[in-house]
Amino acid sequence: MELNLPSRLVAHVEALRLDPGLYLVATPIGTARDITLRALDVLNSADLLAAEDTRTLRHLMDIHGVPLRRRRLLSYHDHNGDRARPVLLAALAAGASIAYASDAGTPLVADPGYRLARDAAQAGHRVHVLPGPSAALAALSLSGLPSDRFLFLGFPPPTEAARRAWLEQWIWTDATLIFFESPRRVNRILEDLCEIDPNRYTVVARELTKKFEEIIRGSAAELAADPRMAALKGEIVVLLDRATPPAPEADQVDSRLRDLMAHLSVRDAAKQAAEEFGLPRRDLYQRALVLGRDQEGRQDRPEAGGADGT
Ligand code: SAM
Repeated sequence: MELNLPSRLVAHVEALRLDPGLYLVATPIGTARDITLRALDVLNSADLLAAEDTRTLRHLMDIHGVPLRRRRLLSYHDHNGDRARPVLLAALAAGASIAYASDAGTPLVADPGYRLARDAAQAGHRVHVLPGPSAALAALSLSGLPSDRFLFLGFPPPTEAARRAWLEQWIWTDATLIFFESPRRVNRILEDLCEIDPNRYTVVARELTKKFEEIIRGSAAELAADPRMAALKGEIVVLLDRATPPAPEADQVDSRLRDLMAHLSVRDAAKQAAEEFGLPRRDLYQRALVLGRDQEGRQDRPEAGGADGT
């Protein structure tokens, strides 16, 4: 009997004839169903599979019903890269398609794969990317912090002096900062941060896409005092907002407004100064009106010792 399954019930994994080359496959950072259909196709069709942890990739393939068949699954990680790379490059040179996945998320992002991708490209092989989950971007999306410009910093150094120097180096960057940290060390970096900038708005993103996903927001000082920080579990991304610029001195604002009003209308001068100082336009407009009236008053007043002899 022929089963007429609705098309949505038919398996989505396709057996493709893949072009030769290295396929960098992003995998879920928690929820297994965050894998892309194309990632499953490539895992199903590549001639050779390579993984940071072969058991993790096997498990993911089992969840999604992708068979290994008689294909080789090689291990490629930081500790065996120098030995494993020539084997993979030789397979590429022989015309193979190789799918490479790290433990979770996007390979190369604080994960192995950079030298493999670089050497494959330098040897003239095609490198393909299968975009997908990445903890840094998932955290940025959820954080509520500005996403116009961000800097991913990997993991901070574990020792205290190096971590302090690392923070001092990056903390004033004009961008949202994103880094990974071990749950056991988050409270230490928050304490370091408090000594540099206790008001810095900070987000701790925990266990993204998993059952106990949690986003904790507040100033560095608030988070350092939060008892949850000492007992954090799971996987963590920390994000820092840009530093809040110090409020400008009133004299500085007045002087800039006067300069601008010398060649702009009151409205335009207030608009420009508001942008420059990051202050509310309406406040600067009111201030510009006052300065303008003062200016007019001075011009109307007769000069001391003027023609009328006063
Ligand atoms: N390549 C991966 C990526 O693109 O997401 C990151 C690999 S890095 C070795 C692992 C670190 O990513 C963890 O220690 C943690 O800081 C962060 N991470 C991974 N999965 C996470 C999750 N579900 N929630 C929060 N952070 C996560």
